[in-house]
Amino acid sequence: MKCIFCHFNDSKVIDSRDLRDGESIRRRRECLRCGHRFTTYERVEPISILVIKKDKNREEYSREKLRRGIVTAFTKRPVKAEDIERMIDSIEAEIFSKGELEVSSMRIGEIIMDHLRKTDPVAYIRFASVYREFADLNVMRSEMDRLVEVEEQERSRRQKEVSKTG
Ligand SMILES: [Zn+2]
Repeated sequence: MKCIFCHFNDSKVIDSRDLRDGESIRRRRECLRCGHRFTTYERVEPISILVIKKDKNREEYSREKLRRGIVTAFTKRPVKAEDIERMIDSIEAEIFSKGELEVSSMRIGEIIMDHLRKTDPVAYIRFASVYREFADLNVMRSEMDRLVEVEEQERSRRQKEVSKTG
């Protein structure tokens, strides 16, 4: 950070403090050349990336939109609102993890389905049927068969563990 008095490039931080619940940080700095003190503010930049839709048009990413799709999939399912919120957080973290400025709606859909599959098979099927536009009932059926299979494997694995320890 350049000194505002002598424009020297190096300063040391002598005090840092969080402002407004950690939304920004105020730092007192001291120039390493002239010794003058000045203040800088650091703020988190609001996330702004573009979503490439199927028709190749772009629109601004919206957490609200993501939430709507997920909440709809969880309608009347025994999942707490705070768990859904936490899931949205981790889905969002994954979307932004590569630091890219654009992400395809397809990629977002895959990430969401990944999380739903692990959390609630019913919500997953609901979301996938809208998202993948299961035009064909057979496709949906094979997807459900696959899920049932995974669940059965999981159950027999758990039973084995129980019988081992019991
Ligand atoms: Zn200076």
